[in-house]
Amino acid sequence: MYDVAKIRGDFPILSREVNGKPLVYLDNGASAQKPRVVIDAIHRAYAEEYANVHRGLHTLSNIATEKYEAVRGIVARFLNAGREEEIILNSGTTEGINMVAYGWAMPRLEAGDEIILSVMEHHANIVPWHFLRERQGVVLKWVDVDSTGALDPQAVIDAIGPRTKLIAVTHLSNVLGTRVDVRTICREARARGVAVLIDGSQAAVHQPVDLQEIGCDFYAVTGHKLYGPSGSGAIYVTSDRMAEMQPFMGGGDMIREVTKETVIYNDPPMKFEAGTPGIVQTIGLGVALEYMMDLGMANIAAHEDALRDYTVAQLSGLNWLQTQGTTPDKAAIFSFTMEGAAHPHDISTILDKKGVAVRAGQHCVGPLMTHMGITASCRASFGLYNTTDEVDVLVEALELAHDLFA
Ligand code: PLP
Repeated sequence: MYDVAKIRGDFPILSREVNGKPLVYLDNGASAQKPRVVIDAIHRAYAEEYANVHRGLHTLSNIATEKYEAVRGIVARFLNAGREEEIILNSGTTEGINMVAYGWAMPRLEAGDEIILSVMEHHANIVPWHFLRERQGVVLKWVDVDSTGALDPQAVIDAIGPRTKLIAVTHLSNVLGTRVDVRTICREARARGVAVLIDGSQAAVHQPVDLQEIGCDFYAVTGHKLYGPSGSGAIYVTSDRMAEMQPFMGGGDMIREVTKETVIYNDPPMKFEAGTPGIVQTIGLGVALEYMMDLGMANIAAHEDALRDYTVAQLSGLNWLQTQGTTPDKAAIFSFTMEGAAHPHDISTILDKKGVAVRAGQHCVGPLMTHMGITASCRASFGLYNTTDEVDVLVEALELAHDLFA
């Protein structure tokens, strides 16, 4: 049984107050809170087991290396990647996507080649592709979402032309909560020889991910949203694409031999991990993923889907609130604006006075904001520890904000 009260006990920060009220943390889309097992693992790694990895032949270095390297396998298991050699450990999604842009796309794409993006991508899955547009004349093709926020996989497939080299698409929108049928996109793209990069930053937090079933080329995740430390993350790259990819950064660890004349690179995935990595962050990420797997990703998804249904029902009673993203199978992520003069920043300030943490602003989705015809919104994004009681507190706080601004 999914015991949310017990789970909440695993997260020390959830028992604190904010502005004299119990914290209601609904900013999980930006970054999630950390369970005690992760905090303890970080402490232990520094207090008892710290040294640089891969380099030393002494006990502490061996322990740190073993713990760090074990995370590759944990990430592979978490994403059902099949082979842990296909996991590159890094600092998060932004680094992962930039690695693909610089290491795989830049050497291969030419002026006039196309990259397909959905309009609801996060800037981390837009700006690296703009680099290719600016520097190499690559063409960015955009696919819209409909008025519910749904992305029709057929529209993505229909956008493929003879010059399309890559589709870069989110698995789950950080603002609308929309889930994307990436499996269909990957199947059809593969049949047409087009690579697919999936931004899994949000999806991996809220639902089981099975990369062997999805069949993508690249899949990026970011540790701090997965209840792990900031500065940790990973990108899955198939062996075939890894063989095509050039290193994005050069330095220690990614080489086997360096002379004045030449460099011999390490085998992948090490070839793509230059310099001292986020050792402790990555160890913490492994613990966080084990924690999620112990709870069960299907159980987490079921809990959050029930929270979504409850929230949809409660918010539907507020006829002065406009919600963006209404697909029935969406994740528990709610973007909303309030009728009248209330700016999302003002609303979030009122909510904060009630202990409710939400995000307000553009949420790093400029093209989506333009598509929706708004400049900012508030976002309440739920995590594995949130409760229906917290939804009630959110609704009360919204009613207060509405009374103040109406
Ligand atoms: N993609 C999505 C969908 C996100 O929500 C985020 C974070 O907000 C990112 C990418 C970027 O992740 P990071 O800043 O951890 O690299």
